[in-house]
Amino acid sequence: MNIVRTIRTVDDLEKARLVDGGGKAALEAVAARYAIAVTPAMAGLINRADPLDPIARQFIPDIAELVATPEERADPIGDQAHSPVEGIVHRYPDRVLLKAVHICPVYCRFCFRREMVGPQGLGTLDADALEAAFDYIRSHSEIWEVILTGGDPLVLSPRRLQEILEELAGIEHVKIVRFHTRVPVVEPQKIDEALIAALKASGKTTYVALHANHPRELTPEARSACGRLVDAGIVMVSQSVLLKGVNDDPDVLAELMRGFVETRIKPYYLHHPDLAPGTSHFRLTISEGQAIVAGLRGRISGLCQPTYILDIPGGHGKAVIGESAIQAAGEGCYSVSDYQGGVHRYPPSE
Ligand code: SF4
Repeated sequence: MNIVRTIRTVDDLEKARLVDGGGKAALEAVAARYAIAVTPAMAGLINRADPLDPIARQFIPDIAELVATPEERADPIGDQAHSPVEGIVHRYPDRVLLKAVHICPVYCRFCFRREMVGPQGLGTLDADALEAAFDYIRSHSEIWEVILTGGDPLVLSPRRLQEILEELAGIEHVKIVRFHTRVPVVEPQKIDEALIAALKASGKTTYVALHANHPRELTPEARSACGRLVDAGIVMVSQSVLLKGVNDDPDVLAELMRGFVETRIKPYYLHHPDLAPGTSHFRLTISEGQAIVAGLRGRISGLCQPTYILDIPGGHGKAVIGESAIQAAGEGCYSVSDYQGGVHRYPPSE
């Protein structure tokens, strides 16, 4: 089936045979609450014969999204508590998020900012708000890194991106500009010369953090889009979310992390899913997550190991939550477990 435009309605999902007519009314209720967008690249990857397809699970609405649990919250990682001016989140001393836009090329069904993104979300910063955000960055000399996120900043035109980067280029204490994006995977054709040029600012180092969750997302087109970014001198890291029914399997995660490294993307964060509304069907327990991540140890190269993290609800920042291989075992003594489960004393007794 040749899909040429991003799918945004339940009707169009049905026409594309991505949902059947049966539960349409309930899906319309989901769509009224949380935006839908499935790009042609992602729609084309979905195996319609597989009811458990991990790509479909990420992008096709599900009536389970109507189920809210008591621990879920609209702002699960506490952005609001750290937002001194519109569009800025200043949670850690040396870096800020700059959320210039709350639009995405796809809407992930597990999104942690699902109450803020989409056509009914927080929109795009207007010129005055953007200027106030730059003023904030200018007046805080401790800000070393600006992280453009949202939303997906790569939905902006190269001209708009260039304007933002030119402003940042003029702020001496900002050294690193980082973009968080799904575009190289979900719209790889957008990564062209003009867009790549717009991501770079004189005197700054650009990082792009690619969000992908399943190895099938790393198509030849996605890999070459990332290759164009890396060839242009942009450093790439990955971020993924550990999701039930998508990648909650050490074999799948190993293939994903190897795919990143083959594509010259350093695996960075594997997020425990946040407490976003209507996402309990994606969440596993932390101990299940720890067991899966422990399954990567020794199985794949150190280059391929992501850091398993939790964003502590309430805005308290990230914590590394993988199982520790080391435990105190007396004065100056430790017991250390190897990747096969063997336990060793450190320092050795003889
Ligand atoms: S691309 Fe990011 S911000 Fe946008 S819907 Fe997906 S997870 Fe949310």
